[in-house]
Amino acid sequence: MPQTDPTTPPAGRVTDSALDPSVAARLRRDDTGLVAAIVQQHDTRDVLMLGWMDDEALHRTLTSGRVTFWSRSRQEYWRKGDTSGHVQHVRSVALDCDGDALLVTVEQVGAACHTGTRTCFEAGGPLPVSTSGTVDPSVGAVAPATPGAQP
Ligand SMILES: [Zn+2]
Repeated sequence: MPQTDPTTPPAGRVTDSALDPSVAARLRRDDTGLVAAIVQQHDTRDVLMLGWMDDEALHRTLTSGRVTFWSRSRQEYWRKGDTSGHVQHVRSVALDCDGDALLVTVEQVGAACHTGTRTCFEAGGPLPVSTSGTVDPSVGAVAPATPGAQP
């Protein structure tokens, strides 16, 4: 995809990020210029939260040691912990197979979720899952191709 978005980037968005061009070239951004960033505690492997990054947020995450997101609700860069103290120290960053998601492992200080729970998924809580095994047979035929893709 070319560097220009069909939509005008929001005010405050850095459009000339210093992100390594070889990394930028591998990103498959959505039509608002963002990729999903899954944040995981490096040692326990707890999945803490999901945020969104544009090129500049990823650049800051890769170079500052602190996880930085683009806030879709506030339309601004958001360095995790600046207001809450619940800092995320970057341990590693990986890009997924098709470039539309990042996996950021961190040392999480305190709660990852703004509600005060350790992870956002504790705050949201489990949804009912049927284990009766009634799956469309046509879907079952392709299921082995994606082991463990979705809980
Ligand atoms: Zn949360």
